[in-house]
Amino acid sequence: MMDLPRIPLAGVIGHPIAHSRSPALHGHWLRRYGIRGHYVPMDVAPADLKETLNLLPRIGFVGLNVTIPHKEAVLQLADVVSDRAALIGAANTLIFRKDGRIHADNTDGAGFIANLRQNAPDWNPAAGPAAVFGAGGAARAVVAALIEVGVPEIRITNRTRPRAEALRADFGAKVVVEDWVQAANMLEGASTVVNTTSLGMAGKADFRVPLDGLEPAALVTDLVYNPLQTDFLQAAADRGCRTVDGLGMLLHQAAPGFERWFGQRPEVDEATRLAVLGA
Ligand code: NAP
Repeated sequence: MMDLPRIPLAGVIGHPIAHSRSPALHGHWLRRYGIRGHYVPMDVAPADLKETLNLLPRIGFVGLNVTIPHKEAVLQLADVVSDRAALIGAANTLIFRKDGRIHADNTDGAGFIANLRQNAPDWNPAAGPAAVFGAGGAARAVVAALIEVGVPEIRITNRTRPRAEALRADFGAKVVVEDWVQAANMLEGASTVVNTTSLGMAGKADFRVPLDGLEPAALVTDLVYNPLQTDFLQAAADRGCRTVDGLGMLLHQAAPGFERWFGQRPEVDEATRLAVLGA
């Protein structure tokens, strides 16, 4: 009997997973490029992670996106871990290679930078210090990426100070830790300002740090994309700053995985944004 080509399958694993916008995004790209493939959300409990990663490549999966709570655990189960995923300590993209090995990568930092480059093309990372609120998993990717593109100093503040100290220990002397109660101080002279906390997200607490020190020349961005225009971005815009919302990061971090799994570099444009927003 003639071998029929396998239909490539990919998906996102998390626990819970119903909130994920990734199926709408990848579904949009699959339709747009006429690719015969599927992308599915899968609710995988931590106890089932290992078994899931063993099984999926055998039934036609070419890779996965990984979200909370599996981003760290998959590093232990992968055969090959990219340098940036190792440095960040988490992976968001898995590629099931033809030789049976699982490759783990982290594309959050690249997605973060691509979003700024697309929406603020004249942004100059070397122009001055960056101020980063938060020191969770996403902050690690953001800090690694900011260092890579040449930001000279990164000021970090986090409610739980030891997490910020850990970032300094891992990323070196360019990282300066500021106390959370004095968070507003780090805005002075900062040319890039980033919220990586979940503050301001629908259903979470408000972002309350006073932004008086924010300079109008600063580029301000928020990783939160629900709502798109957070109070933090609105307050920055009111001070005359350029702002970039977090949705573009979500779209750009997804593009490398889609390309590896389905063989087509997808475009991130207004139609892509609308497809995800309408989901
Ligand atoms: P995480 O590892 O759980 O970190 C959460 C961060 O928010 C920590 O810094 C935490 O501080 C801080 N935080 C939470 N509640 C707080 C409160 N009440 N007061 C002060 N700080 C608080 O999560 P993550 O993966 O880094 O994600 C952080 C945010 O980025 C989420 O909103 C997520 O949706 C968003 N994100 C967006 C993208 C995108 O593509 N746009 C990608 C990744 C993440 P403590 O350490 O003190 O708890």
